[in-house]
Amino acid sequence: FLFFCFVFSSWSFFFFQIWWAAGIMFQDITTLLLDHKAFKDTVDIFVDRYRDMGISVVAGIEARGFVFGPSIALAIGAKFVPLRKPNKLPGEVISEAYVLEYGTDRLEMHVGAIEPGERALVIDDLVATGGTLSAAVRLLERMGAEVVECACVVGLPEGQRRLDGKPLYILVEPR
Ligand code: AMP
Repeated sequence: FLFFCFVFSSWSFFFFQIWWAAGIMFQDITTLLLDHKAFKDTVDIFVDRYRDMGISVVAGIEARGFVFGPSIALAIGAKFVPLRKPNKLPGEVISEAYVLEYGTDRLEMHVGAIEPGERALVIDDLVATGGTLSAAVRLLERMGAEVVECACVVGLPEGQRRLDGKPLYILVEPR
């Protein structure tokens, strides 16, 4: 009974509602956000890992990278740079296309958001093929940043495929 209580109250088991759409099994992090402790623990794990790595930029991928990225940035003393879907940013942008499991898309970043030589962390909710993270890394490197690591809450098994050896840190690997 105690084991049952532990497992079903612990945040690692609390993460996901899973549903099927167009043959893709979507992993949803919104139930995690409903549990203050689980949400805080998640952010704290990232903060503990990155606080002493000299990171000055946390780049979050729209939209669910915006859920975790700003809290991490504030806690480690970095700025937050949003990497957005096309035509959302008002200023001059650079852009990178990428292939998803279910089509193609593009990420954009404001020119001037990053100074050459800055150390960056890329954050998103989930990595599947790694295409989105790779586009984010290309954007940051085009601006002269050094991408220290990519980080996600959820990592699907094929997650590193397009990352070309760039370090990837994930908290949960669903089976
Ligand atoms: P990928 O580029 O294939 O690694 O896809 C990662 C991006 O697409 C992330 O921004 C995810 O939020 C979203 N995504 C891809 N596959 C899924 C999935 N199975 N469940 C939830 N989000 C997904």
